[in-house]
Amino acid sequence: MIVVLSLDNVDSVLVNSTAAVVVEFYASWCGHCVAFSPVWKSLARDIKEWKPAVDLAAIDCASEGNTQICSRFDVRGYPTLKFFHAYSNANTKGQVFKAYPRDVRGLRRKLIDLMETHKDPWPPACPPLEPASTAEIDNFFKTTNVEHLALIFEITNSYVGREVILDMLHYENLAVRRVLSTEEGLVTKLGVTDFPSCYLYNSSGNFIRLKVQNEARVFYSYALQTLPRVVRAGIPPPTAGDLKENPTLEQERPFNRSRVYMADLESTLYYSLRVELAAHSVFKGEALSALQQYIAVLVKYFPGRPLVMNMLKSVGTWLKDQKDPEVSYSSLKDALDNTAEVPNAALPDKVSWVGCQGSRPHFRGYPCGLWTLFHVLTVQAKEAAKTDPQEVVQALRSYVHNFFGCRECATHFENMAKDSMSQVGTWLTPVMWLWSRHNQVNNRLAGAPSEDPRFPKIQWPSPDQCPSCHGVKTTGEHTWNQDEVLAFLHSHFSSKNLLSDYIE
Ligand code: FAD
Repeated sequence: MIVVLSLDNVDSVLVNSTAAVVVEFYASWCGHCVAFSPVWKSLARDIKEWKPAVDLAAIDCASEGNTQICSRFDVRGYPTLKFFHAYSNANTKGQVFKAYPRDVRGLRRKLIDLMETHKDPWPPACPPLEPASTAEIDNFFKTTNVEHLALIFEITNSYVGREVILDMLHYENLAVRRVLSTEEGLVTKLGVTDFPSCYLYNSSGNFIRLKVQNEARVFYSYALQTLPRVVRAGIPPPTAGDLKENPTLEQERPFNRSRVYMADLESTLYYSLRVELAAHSVFKGEALSALQQYIAVLVKYFPGRPLVMNMLKSVGTWLKDQKDPEVSYSSLKDALDNTAEVPNAALPDKVSWVGCQGSRPHFRGYPCGLWTLFHVLTVQAKEAAKTDPQEVVQALRSYVHNFFGCRECATHFENMAKDSMSQVGTWLTPVMWLWSRHNQVNNRLAGAPSEDPRFPKIQWPSPDQCPSCHGVKTTGEHTWNQDEVLAFLHSHFSSKNLLSDYIE
């Protein structure tokens, strides 16, 4: 998300770029830079959706290979932030952020101020940020064919409108404009009395107020993303033709997004035990210990049907009884085959997704099931009131590290675990740790080719799913109500919320 500059890429990133670029020049030995680094990373996550209009970059001026670059841009102190307009030339030194704010909100606003100083050429991916006039809105649908026009009414020094415009710039079939409270024609026509507030306007001249829990950036963006036929650019929603051509879609099963399905958990177990582990002919050393830990937490915490639990327990006992330093997958398979009362009957013999079904065969499925299984296990362990807070998360970490077939995912997950797992059991519960890491992954993957357009990668749960999980600070910034999130996770992933529909 943050482009790391070096001699190899500095010109291709900064010169003649179609996006504006903000560069943090830092020195790895500088304490202020170390303290500022989390803010810079948080900013990158916060404005990830603005990417085609503005990029963030960083360069370590303490690295010998980079000194030439830092001196070219006249950088003497650290950290220094510099703004490069889109289409900067090779001689541009960049505009210094003087007395810059040290928080994400302040930096975001400073960035908008600088974006607005663009004259021609305006960064092509950046929608207009200036306030719309009554005449522009009256003529809007004569020149464009988007279905939804969202108008954010606000006072002059409010940034909400511009933030939402940039948050939504990847989405098609929707345009967002800000309208100032002084734009009397529109304010009177729509009867606007609250600033900020958001109205949806259509080509027939009809308008309705967008209903949100709080009149703030994140709530507007969440609500606009879920409007009918609003999709990310470049990812067409499935059409009637797709439905006919695609046998998986024909079998689409209605499901309730507020419930967890046992069919997904059992499909995940089937795939993990019968397919993913089968890729390893022998387990020894760290891999054997990862396998033992994984089976042990499943035996203890999987909220399964008696047949499945009997199968897991006997595999767990068999594994414990193994005295050799190596266990082969074929012997594990025999143990799996032989333990069910009716051989092979405990688990389905193929995957069959419900809550994890994708709109196309290559979307969702197993990784969705694995996350769901992990969340269920952390919540079940909490319900069982066990004492070792790291027991489940360490077992899941080892599973991912040793066996998860998506090796790149495994590397990312291991890096996250290395950075933050020590917090589990000190100031973070395992349930909250997994939730926050999963949201970190969601943020990274939003807009990636693996994102199912019908299941966008949002910061979860949405305000629709859990209104009380979301709040706003007095500054207007979004905040998670951690106690409410924890209560929501406990209820969502509890045994009571598990449905056994579609299990034969
Ligand atoms: P998923 O992200 O799989 O989520 C499944 C369900 O969990 C959602 O439908 C929702 O009901 C719920 N949920 C969503 N967010 C949260 C949350 N924060 N807390 C609790 N519940 C939540 N793919 C990559 O391309 N790159 C990676 O680096 C990568 N790393 C991964 C690491 C792990 C450990 C796993 C299990 C998967 C990883 N994936 C990665 C896959 C990716 O995260 C998704 O699982 C996949 O794209 C399918 O997405 P999905 O829409 O089904 O939702």
